[in-house]
Amino acid sequence: MARFRCPSCGYVYDEQAGAPREGWPPGTPFDQVDEDWPCPDCGVREQQDFEPVP
Ligand SMILES: [Zn+2]
Repeated sequence: MARFRCPSCGYVYDEQAGAPREGWPPGTPFDQVDEDWPCPDCGVREQQDFEPVP
Protein backbone atom coordinates (compact mmCIF):
# COMPACT_ATOMS: atom_id res chain seq x y z
CA MET A 1 0.00 0.00 0.00
CA ALA A 2 1.10 3.55 -0.65
CA ARG A 3 1.82 6.55 1.52
CA PHE A 4 1.18 10.22 0.79
CA ARG A 5 2.74 13.28 2.41
CA CYS A 6 1.33 16.73 3.13
CA PRO A 7 3.63 19.22 1.39
CA SER A 8 3.11 21.83 4.11
CA CYS A 9 3.72 20.02 7.39
CA GLY A 10 4.99 16.57 6.48
CA TYR A 11 2.01 14.61 7.85
CA VAL A 12 1.93 11.22 6.14
CA TYR A 13 -1.24 9.33 5.26
CA ASP A 14 -0.46 5.62 5.22
CA GLU A 15 -3.10 3.59 3.36
CA GLN A 16 -2.35 0.56 5.54
CA ALA A 17 -3.00 2.51 8.74
CA GLY A 18 -5.70 4.83 7.40
CA ALA A 19 -6.78 7.70 9.63
CA PRO A 20 -9.45 6.19 11.88
CA ARG A 21 -10.02 9.35 13.93
CA GLU A 22 -10.67 11.17 10.67
CA GLY A 23 -13.16 8.54 9.52
CA TRP A 24 -10.83 6.57 7.22
CA PRO A 25 -10.43 2.98 8.43
CA PRO A 26 -7.15 1.09 7.97
CA GLY A 27 -6.78 -0.02 4.37
CA THR A 28 -8.63 2.93 2.85
CA PRO A 29 -6.99 3.75 -0.50
CA PHE A 30 -5.96 7.38 -0.69
CA ASP A 31 -8.00 7.91 -3.85
CA GLN A 32 -11.12 7.08 -1.81
CA VAL A 33 -10.36 9.88 0.64
CA ASP A 34 -12.34 13.03 -0.18
CA GLU A 35 -10.45 15.51 -2.35
CA ASP A 36 -11.35 18.30 0.06
CA TRP A 37 -10.32 16.37 3.18
CA PRO A 38 -8.06 18.81 5.05
CA CYS A 39 -4.74 17.69 6.48
CA PRO A 40 -5.41 16.76 10.15
CA ASP A 41 -2.14 18.35 11.30
CA CYS A 42 -2.02 21.72 9.55
CA GLY A 43 -5.50 22.07 8.06
CA VAL A 44 -4.01 24.09 5.23
CA ARG A 45 -3.59 21.46 2.53
CA GLU A 46 -6.19 19.04 1.21
CA GLN A 47 -6.10 15.48 -0.06
CA GLN A 48 -5.53 16.65 -3.64
CA ASP A 49 -2.33 18.48 -2.57
CA PHE A 50 -0.66 15.44 -0.99
CA GLU A 51 2.37 13.94 -2.70
CA PRO A 52 3.25 10.24 -3.02
CA VAL A 53 6.04 9.06 -0.73
CA PRO A 54 8.59 7.08 -2.77
ZN1 LIG B 1 -0.38 19.28 6.71
